[in-house]
Amino acid sequence: MGRKWVGTGWKMNKLLAEAEAYARSLREFVDGHAPEIEVFIVPPFTVLRRTCEILKGSPVKVGAQNMHWEERGAFTGEISPLMVKDCGADLVELGHSERRAQFGETDYTVNRKVLAALGHGLRPLVCVGETGPEKAFGVARECVARQVKIALKDVPESRIGEVILAYEPVWAIGESGTPAEPDYANSVHGVIRDAVSGLYGSRAAGEVPVLYGGSVDAENGPLFVREKEVDGLFVGRAAWDVRGLIRIIEAVQGESRGRPRGHEGPAP
Ligand code: PEP
Repeated sequence: MGRKWVGTGWKMNKLLAEAEAYARSLREFVDGHAPEIEVFIVPPFTVLRRTCEILKGSPVKVGAQNMHWEERGAFTGEISPLMVKDCGADLVELGHSERRAQFGETDYTVNRKVLAALGHGLRPLVCVGETGPEKAFGVARECVARQVKIALKDVPESRIGEVILAYEPVWAIGESGTPAEPDYANSVHGVIRDAVSGLYGSRAAGEVPVLYGGSVDAENGPLFVREKEVDGLFVGRAAWDVRGLIRIIEAVQGESRGRPRGHEGPAP
């Protein structure tokens, strides 16, 4: 795996002026510092086009938070792959645990959306992760492997390198979340890698970035990316202020260069 990844999903936050200010500041930062990190942001639909416009031509990728799998039709309130593409997006987040828990998203609908995304030149960013009870009952690994295998069903081997996976244990996300221990995250990332490898072989599995998400910040971020199987971070709250995202990018950059920041200790 090459560069590390750092991205944020804004969830249901930011009006147009806030989105514009964030995107402009991020653009200024990447233009000035050229971080050797793959950076992405995932705004709400209402500001997606404008965010894409501001970041056009920069290395920052922009994604939608969800989409329907059909191109058009009688699906009131839904957004199609054509519409997401038309906004200028590069990727689409699919299967976030909030969508699974609150909006009826299933492994099977995630799979339809993954195939639709690839069919329209959008990189699918697929979120997987066990709930607290699933962890407590000792089935986290089975749960995550199942989610990955179903999400990737019928994805051709030639396209697997376009998929991005995010391991987001449900118990680690949000206000009430506790970040996973980095070695625990690493072991589940290994399960995810093995699931992809079982479908496509180990070389292809090595092409799929597997990001960790769940109460990440600039202090603990470097501890996650230090782990062998963790290719980057998917961040919520700590990156909703652009300065937070920049701090995390800098911390990961420092860790990747062997100069850890934000915590004590020698370079690995
Ligand atoms: C998320 O909800 O995807 C997430 C990673 O949130 P947070 O970083 O705020 O826990």
